[in-house]
Amino acid sequence: MEQVKIGKFIAERRKSVNLTQIQLAEKLGITDRAVSKWETGKSMPDSSIMLDLCAILKITVIDLLTGEVVSVENYNKELENNLVEMVKQKQEGDKRLLRTEIVMGICCIIPFIIATVCVLAIPMEEWLGVVIILGSLLPLLIATPFALLIEQKAGYYECENCGNKTVPKYSKVFFAPHVNRTRLMNCDKCGKITWQKKRLTKED
Ligand SMILES: [Zn+2]
Repeated sequence: MEQVKIGKFIAERRKSVNLTQIQLAEKLGITDRAVSKWETGKSMPDSSIMLDLCAILKITVIDLLTGEVVSVENYNKELENNLVEMVKQKQEGDKRLLRTEIVMGICCIIPFIIATVCVLAIPMEEWLGVVIILGSLLPLLIATPFALLIEQKAGYYECENCGNKTVPKYSKVFFAPHVNRTRLMNCDKCGKITWQKKRLTKED
């Protein structure tokens, strides 16, 4: 999908129905910054509001995803193209996320393993061994907040109780107890503290 083309199309349609970015944002219950990001091609409208957005702009989802009003003859063709493209993007996104986390993890654990082996194998003062091992943990300490940022930004956390899917604040994710990517957090919707699973899309 060509985000820049889609962005320009959204802006064009928004103007044609006489709405400002702020007015459109208000109708959708989102920030005008989000609208601005779509229109500059920096992000895509979330799937959860796509139908409402299209209704307001008086276009179909296929028009939106194609970045132009699609004629009836080309409708099926564009529909198929968009579906294939979406599946591809999601799969690539998932893979990239996973690979980044794994690479970061390995890079950070290797120094620790090497340091531990060295400290055990080479006779040295006890304090020196402790310093070396603690030092080898530094990359892990530095990388953890970044790995967490990737995790927080990618996809959503799903409440175990009500199924609400959100992107919580970084600080909330940071301090939440976790098992792998599942985190214990309170839900904005139902208020319960539940184990929230990572979901890459709202439809998962
Ligand atoms: Zn909930």
